[in-house]
Amino acid sequence: MPTAAASRSNSRSPSYVTTAIPYVNDVPHVGFVLEMVQADALARFYRLSGNDVRFLAGTDENSLKNVHAAELAGIPVAALVERNAARFRALRESLELSFDDFIRTSTDARHRPGAERLWTACVESGDIYKRAYHGLYCTGCEQFYKPDELDDGRCPEHDTVPDEIDEENWFFRLSKYGDRLSEIYAHGEVEIVPASRRNVVLAWIKSGLEDFSISRSAARARGWGIPVPGDSEQVIYVWFDALANYITALGYGTGEALLSRYWTDATSREHVIGKGITRFHAIYWPAMLLSAGLRLPTRILVHGYVTVDGRKIGKSAGNAIDPIALAAELGADALRYYLLRHIRSTGDGDFSYERFRQAYESELAGQLGNLAHRVLSMIELYCGGVIPTPPERHAENDRLLRGVAELPGMVAGHIRTFAFDRALDAIWSLIADANRYVSEEEPWASAKAAASSRNRESAAECEAKLHGSLFSLAASLLTIATGIAPLLPRASRKLLDKLGGTRCQGEPQKSLIGRRIKAGVPLFPK
Ligand SMILES: [Zn+2]
Repeated sequence: MPTAAASRSNSRSPSYVTTAIPYVNDVPHVGFVLEMVQADALARFYRLSGNDVRFLAGTDENSLKNVHAAELAGIPVAALVERNAARFRALRESLELSFDDFIRTSTDARHRPGAERLWTACVESGDIYKRAYHGLYCTGCEQFYKPDELDDGRCPEHDTVPDEIDEENWFFRLSKYGDRLSEIYAHGEVEIVPASRRNVVLAWIKSGLEDFSISRSAARARGWGIPVPGDSEQVIYVWFDALANYITALGYGTGEALLSRYWTDATSREHVIGKGITRFHAIYWPAMLLSAGLRLPTRILVHGYVTVDGRKIGKSAGNAIDPIALAAELGADALRYYLLRHIRSTGDGDFSYERFRQAYESELAGQLGNLAHRVLSMIELYCGGVIPTPPERHAENDRLLRGVAELPGMVAGHIRTFAFDRALDAIWSLIADANRYVSEEEPWASAKAAASSRNRESAAECEAKLHGSLFSLAASLLTIATGIAPLLPRASRKLLDKLGGTRCQGEPQKSLIGRRIKAGVPLFPK
């Protein structure tokens, strides 16, 4: 018999959220942190909504890129990937990430059997065959290019001249899946956010899908990678192997309990990726899944590129700032805030240290921190630190409470549609309203009038006004703390603690009355 807790957890919607797995030839940069933070915000949002969430991150280690980086550093590949993978995993603490699992494709015992099984499943569908191949290969991208896809003979992503490669490879029969894929995207079976990217994908499919090479010669890969089942001369192409991580981490090929819960039977299977790898996720991956008889992702959420001071991030540009240092300086929430609000969730964006500091000082410490400080100090000063009972019918007439009531739905709607920037815009608009409300209502004037009035009736009236406005302000803080919970988790916890309780579920107003608050130290110290 299932226990009560188990049947409860089974009845909640299972949601699966993943980040792409980065190459570990270098340390994490701020552009990758954007993706981690977006996926984390989504996973936290689902958890707070009561879903049964599995959030996966990891590292892509079987690539030629890593082989070259290790050769350059003069160390074994295994040592290089081990060292850099640790730095990616360490983002969890630095950025307050909540991934439940972290898979490393070179060492994780779950991965290789799963990647082999995926290969075998595609062989059984008749979708894998061997042929001679001549092509232009960019190691930076780990992919072949057609001459017309290059800019003046150079890789459009890396601005380098690709290598000419002649070898015999295994191919995947992608051409077979064109019609099925266009149907999938035309009918929204798999949703791509933003919709403009779906149109790009449909255009690719329409222009014709060619079979693609899914193995490399073991010699060229210096023996690094997963050998092709039944052909030790070849290793599985790193993208085929890497994409498999989304299911091998759930036990595909090694044990299926998590696989059925978070993949086959999940309500949502969502991949957060950068725009540069849309083709792999929107075309190759679904075709591989169809071939293997597995379910498709439900959504592919695509973000843009982050530049630093207007320039593409790269070691040579000297602008690859360390996200861990940024988070250490002003806190994880400060960096999460900048990335989630000041970079449009599905567009390109720019990071500048100046604006990062500015956003911290004026928007976090200034607008939110200041609001919390003013409201909590007044409750301490005028109400003995206890959230007062508002006068009767206060809620019907109070303009701030109307905004408070509308906020949760707006924030949830924006997060659900992968628009974290808009969610934060909505929250900050309530913060601005609440700050304005303080100046207009002047609670200190009501307090002074109540204290100095000799007339009992008018003193009571002033006190009712004071209690009404402080109650509304406390309600706005509670709603803000709840709204930022998936986005700025640490600030949310601190603010809730100051408000003497937990997030609001259902009606915030009633749960607030009589709570003892703590003004304490500022939310965002300057
Ligand atoms: Zn490239």
